[in-house]
Amino acid sequence: MAQLEKIQCPSCGAPLEWDGRYGQSVTCSYCGSVFLPAASAADDVWLMTDPVARARYEFNNTLDKLEHDIRFEVLRGGKWSAQDRTYLEEIARLEKAGLVRRLASFWAISPHPPVYRALADGEFHIGGQKLPFRKGQEIVWACPMTRDRFDLPLPVLIADFQGARVQKLCGEMVNAMQGRMS
Ligand SMILES: [Zn+2]
Repeated sequence: MAQLEKIQCPSCGAPLEWDGRYGQSVTCSYCGSVFLPAASAADDVWLMTDPVARARYEFNNTLDKLEHDIRFEVLRGGKWSAQDRTYLEEIARLEKAGLVRRLASFWAISPHPPVYRALADGEFHIGGQKLPFRKGQEIVWACPMTRDRFDLPLPVLIADFQGARVQKLCGEMVNAMQGRMS
């Protein structure tokens, strides 16, 4: 069953229990006002998911499974971190500036974030750090599993998937290529 979360009534400030489901109204038992809990970026379970990936699960009637996986495997029962949200702001900034382009493919691992390609050399700014990228490289939000696999300090993977120029990482790149879906 869904875990009850504590929220505040927006009208009277009374503490209420909420089952965590968006799109269903909540009635305050103190003042009687009815409201719809709004998803903030921090607890929107679909924040990182490519819409096409989500639609596939929906089509296969397995959206519940994906949602459960994101809540308990990816988020481990928590929320998106400030760094995760900074990643999204940064990728949006770069896209607006014409430095990256969203590809028609997404990462194979849940929550299936969209993959971007750098259209020019640039820098990814996250958590006060600057990560340089080169034209042609791919950028993707890195889930905890990807972070562990590539030993990444930040939730962003910038990699060259187009060749085996970096010999040392060749095997990892082959794995990563298999980890991508179009
Ligand atoms: Zn109230």
